[in-house]
Amino acid sequence: MSDPSADRMLEALSRPLLRLVKDLCGMQASFITVIDWNTQLQRVILVDADPELPLCEGAESAWSQSLCRHMFSQGIQHSDCMEQLFPDTPGVAMGIRSFIVLPVVHGEKTLGTLCAASQQRRPLDDATRQRLQLISEAISLQLHLTLELQQLRQEAASRQQQISDLKELADTDPLTGLLNRRGFARCWQQLQSEPSGRLAVMVIDIDHFKRINDQHGHERGDQALQLLAAALRTLSRQQDYLARLGGDEFVLAARDSNATGLASLAQRLQCYLQEHCAPGSAPIELSIGIADNTRQATDDLLRLADQALYQSKQQGRNRIQISPTPEA
Ligand code: GH3
Ligand code: MG
Repeated sequence: MSDPSADRMLEALSRPLLRLVKDLCGMQASFITVIDWNTQLQRVILVDADPELPLCEGAESAWSQSLCRHMFSQGIQHSDCMEQLFPDTPGVAMGIRSFIVLPVVHGEKTLGTLCAASQQRRPLDDATRQRLQLISEAISLQLHLTLELQQLRQEAASRQQQISDLKELADTDPLTGLLNRRGFARCWQQLQSEPSGRLAVMVIDIDHFKRINDQHGHERGDQALQLLAAALRTLSRQQDYLARLGGDEFVLAARDSNATGLASLAQRLQCYLQEHCAPGSAPIELSIGIADNTRQATDDLLRLADQALYQSKQQGRNRIQISPTPEA
């Protein structure tokens, strides 16, 4: 079992019954196994054992090698001379002489087995056999419920994963892998709701991007957008938020930074793009607007960075503009 709550349920329900089986038959150990018919593996899931016969929960073995299977195929549920019946098996190598196995069945399906084992010879009378049958039916129901619960939880977890994958997809720009406008809006809201700390934002727009498309084709335009995204990823810090807001407009929001810090990042961004420009084409140039909350209110930062970007464009492009501190 891998689901802790399903494990706990089986533990609470079946452990007392296992103790009962062990005592009823005078055995040193009793245990429950489950069989995965797809992988043909049998797994011990719950054990009640004396120290002399240490059996392990979680032990797994091939069904083809299983002592239970050997017993079933001979049509026997009990033996107290295992060393004669199955001399070359690992169980006998552990000194097991007496063994009981009952199938744990739900509907048409064998879910696993209920077993008891001892290194001493232990006969099994009819009255005990009948009681064991009743106990195995109770365990069948418990095991069935546990496996169902486990499956339901797995399905719920996988649905949860699908939902979070879809959410991530909805927040991601497919071309660059950065956040899209929607994803950024969510992160920005989160940033604003945090107790006030230093926060700076940089809005970036490629200069004359349309020309790249027109002169070299849309694919080259896409590559330019991807290069800018790669540059931002390389130069930013893990905790910064990066987004493509649309078209050729990008944004970087940074906690614990200010306009001066982002201006130096912007310069490194320009250098990166010069160094990585596609062979035979001019480097991508950027207009950049920056604002921080040491100068302005946090709520206004995006608008002010946008305004600063607009001024960069107005003043001839390929520029970095910090939003000025308001007049007192
Ligand atoms: P400016 O210097 O004023 O910013 O001029 P610009 O040419 O960069 O700006 P404009 O807004 O006129 O052009 C942006 C272009 O970006 C127009 C649009 O066709 C193109 N575009 C938008 N999305 C994509 C995309 O995903 N891939 C490509 N290759 N081009 C895109
Ligand atoms: Mg542009």
